[in-house]
Amino acid sequence: MAQSITIVGGGLAGLTLGIGLRQLDVPVLIHEAGTYPRHRVCGEFISGRGQTTLARLGLDVLLGRAGAVSAKTAAFFTATKATAPRPLPSAAICLSRFTLDAILAEKFRELGGELIADQRFVGNFGEGIVRATGRHAQTEKNGVRWFGLKIHGRNLALAADLEMHVSAQGYVGLCKINGGEVNICGLFRKQTNETGPPKNWRERLYGQPGSPLHERLVSAEFDEGSFCAIAGLSLQPQRAIARTEICVGDAITMIPPVTGNGMSMAFESAGLAIAPLADWSRGGLTWDETRQKIARQCDAAFARRLAWAKWLQRILLKPALQNPFIALAAHNNKFWRLAFEHTR
Ligand SMILES: Cc1cc2nc3c(=O)[nH]c(=O)nc-3n(C[C@H](O)[C@H](O)[C@H](O)COP(=O)(O)OP(=O)(O)OC[C@H]3O[C@@H](n4cnc5c(N)ncnc54)[C@H](O)[C@@H]3O)c2cc1C
Repeated sequence: MAQSITIVGGGLAGLTLGIGLRQLDVPVLIHEAGTYPRHRVCGEFISGRGQTTLARLGLDVLLGRAGAVSAKTAAFFTATKATAPRPLPSAAICLSRFTLDAILAEKFRELGGELIADQRFVGNFGEGIVRATGRHAQTEKNGVRWFGLKIHGRNLALAADLEMHVSAQGYVGLCKINGGEVNICGLFRKQTNETGPPKNWRERLYGQPGSPLHERLVSAEFDEGSFCAIAGLSLQPQRAIARTEICVGDAITMIPPVTGNGMSMAFESAGLAIAPLADWSRGGLTWDETRQKIARQCDAAFARRLAWAKWLQRILLKPALQNPFIALAAHNNKFWRLAFEHTR
């Protein structure tokens, strides 16, 4: 008789892991604090090896049926410079989190998984319980706070399937998603000692008047119900082996969102955890052996890209380096490929 596994967190990592375990007939219970469908702060741009995990679990078809859009080109912008649209070395998949999380939850239930939504898990994490609770909150680091904003819009003419607009305050990604909408999602930093009137979300997302970002957003129609915000982001890379619990997704570590690889890491880490957890469930491994096996595989898969992503984000957020970065990305194919491939 297989032992049951409890997953705390029904986001992408928790649901993907639950689906994979149910496909192997392991009994699974997921606790989710929120409900479905729900909007999340996310660029909604799935890029990288997580697509292979989705295909392995047969979930790529599900995303396709839900209207996922393929992104094949990207362009970078500052207030004064832009790259021409450039082909992405490999295509990304764009789907709203409103749809994505809900279809995965439905699939998990269809496979016989038990999902308790709208209820926060407050118990202790022990044997048989996996943490998929998302990012570890961090209020500030070195006097800087990170926060994210997102909203869907229509009537936006994009030059590429993905546009990244960088400024001194952060960056905003625009990408075409299902239903003919465009997702507008930004990551911003704020000094803890910053003075002056608080900015509202429109001012933050719109960017500087006269910039290409401002031009696009000023004539857009927004779906106000899709607006969401989060704060307390921790972007310092962490290792899975240092965690005392079995963790998947952002519960291990967050990768800078500019890479569009966080969801991929959620799918990949869940994919790597399936076989060891199924083995534990059937008595083949102890809980600590299972934790170590999953953590080592995750660290081996993610360490390099986390290091590269940290540098990419640093460069992109240094105003003096933004225009040289754009010039290099516009004219140097090797640099374009390298920056893309090493961060996923
Ligand atoms: C601004 C921004 C832009 C981003 N853009 C992109 C992008 O374009 N592409 C990309 O790939 N990634 C992007 N990401 C990252 C991506 O959103 C995350 O990596 C991904 O959501 C991680 O999935 P997860 O399942 O680990 O966590 P989550 O999706 O956060 O899920 C965790 C779940 O756990 C639940 N939970 C937490 N605590 C409890 C509890 N005690 N009991 C029950 N439930 C609990 C939460 O309600 C939540 O549903 C972005 C992130 C930010 C901040």
